[in-house]
Amino acid sequence: MKTIGHFVDNKPVPGASGRYGPVFDPATGARAARVALASAAEVDAAVAAARAAHRSWGGTSLARRTGLLFRYRELLVARRDELARLITAEHGKVHADALGEVARGLEIVELACAIPEKLKGELSTQVSTGVDVASIRQPLGVVAGVTPFNFPAMVPLWMFPVAIACGNTFVLKPSEKDPSAGLRLAELAAEAGFPEGVLNVVNGDREAVERLLAHPDVAAVSFVGSTPVARAIQRGAVEHGKRVQALGGAKNHMLVLPDADLDVAADAAVSAAYGSAGERCMAVSVVVAVGDETADALVAAVAERARALVIGPGDDPASEMGPLITAEHREKVASYVRGAAAQGAEVVVDGTGLTVPGHEDGFFLGVSLLDRVSPGMDAYRDEIFGPVLCVVRAADYDEAVALINSSPWGNGSAVFTRDGGTARRFQLEVESGMVGVNVPIPVPVGYHSFGGWKESLFGDHHIYGNDGVRFYTRGKVITTRWPDPAESAVNLGFPSHT
Ligand code: NAD
Repeated sequence: MKTIGHFVDNKPVPGASGRYGPVFDPATGARAARVALASAAEVDAAVAAARAAHRSWGGTSLARRTGLLFRYRELLVARRDELARLITAEHGKVHADALGEVARGLEIVELACAIPEKLKGELSTQVSTGVDVASIRQPLGVVAGVTPFNFPAMVPLWMFPVAIACGNTFVLKPSEKDPSAGLRLAELAAEAGFPEGVLNVVNGDREAVERLLAHPDVAAVSFVGSTPVARAIQRGAVEHGKRVQALGGAKNHMLVLPDADLDVAADAAVSAAYGSAGERCMAVSVVVAVGDETADALVAAVAERARALVIGPGDDPASEMGPLITAEHREKVASYVRGAAAQGAEVVVDGTGLTVPGHEDGFFLGVSLLDRVSPGMDAYRDEIFGPVLCVVRAADYDEAVALINSSPWGNGSAVFTRDGGTARRFQLEVESGMVGVNVPIPVPVGYHSFGGWKESLFGDHHIYGNDGVRFYTRGKVITTRWPDPAESAVNLGFPSHT
């Protein structure tokens, strides 16, 4: 069986801990590979490589850094199909969706290519007589990234291109469930010409992450994953004096008002709820329909579309939705559908009985639609992270927004309406970091920043865009004077400006 190791100093490094995790092909259910799970000592070796590299990388000219990033961008464009196939093989999502993931990751490499513009400092001349003040931003040193299974290429690309462009060196700990895409991204960075130690990958689980959090030479940690782990990562990083951004889970609501075009809303709800089998942090998992008339029509339109979806292996061009990541996760998702009726929901579409001919052992689950869901139910309360869409009925706009704002999460929210005034109210009143107006998955472009509110993000910075640049740099303010020695004198007063 194939064994997946680490990548340090631009070289593959076999695992040395003797611990391995399984990597499945979710479409067949077969164990496709095993991935090495790093020990603390192996993490230390990767951090040492990154630290050694930072000594020269931190001072490497912007011209050289961006030259390498442009070359990296070209390599990723040339290999996007190969990367998408790696994603599909271990994650299961369909090829077109995997290509979309690579494309959204590429946006961040393109942002990183523009880093000289982002790192331009500020200069004030003659703030006092003969005194100038400059503000500059400098890299932190070694930074680490810990990423989830659901975007094995895009989420690493949210992090390391910006970090490296800013002059840091990076240690990536991808998800152990689908590690190959992250590893391939590092191999391609080496091929692009990035010096040894600039981008390193250690595969592993909690043990590796805890070492990264505790390591004295790691200056900052970017994390994307579930809320309980994000919360623990923030605490661990702060305890060890590190800068941290920890993006967590979500339960994204889509508000549909009675004046919305219900066909447009149904298309959007189906795409955003069931795309990537619902394993997206920006998936729509709750539709809040205002008024029974809206809800009845919308549920019918969504159900019709949901029943028509083609579910099958991700490498079959006919498939619109692939399998879930593991058998355990599929069972967990199915349990929410099975328990929904007993809690009072109406199971309009039940996908739990699906089998895909020829792929009976794959981790497939059909799509489900639950109507008349209420906040007390398990399906509403928890992040299911699967192809299950809940519909909650609200009497009016105010009740709907109050419901959305009572959620502990605040990643993305969307409103579907033809009324600009109500949409504007929603933008200002909803407690989410990212808002869509007639856009169900409002993932910001690379030159804006991505981040949720409340339990969807622990830390002060959103990821990529200007917030990414701020996160991966620290400020320095330089006050300069070139005094005439003839005018120099002792003065014990606090410096004031003249
Ligand atoms: P996860 O939290 O289980 O794992 C994320 C990473 O943390 C992995 O690399 C894993 O190895 C590591 N990890 C797991 N348990 C750990 C522990 N106890 N201590 C230290 N490290 C640990 O998440 P997942 O299942 O891989 O990904 C799905 C979750 O990620 C969902 O909750 C989803 O909403 C969230 N997500 C959020 C965003 C966002 O931008 N907010 C984006 C993508 C995914």
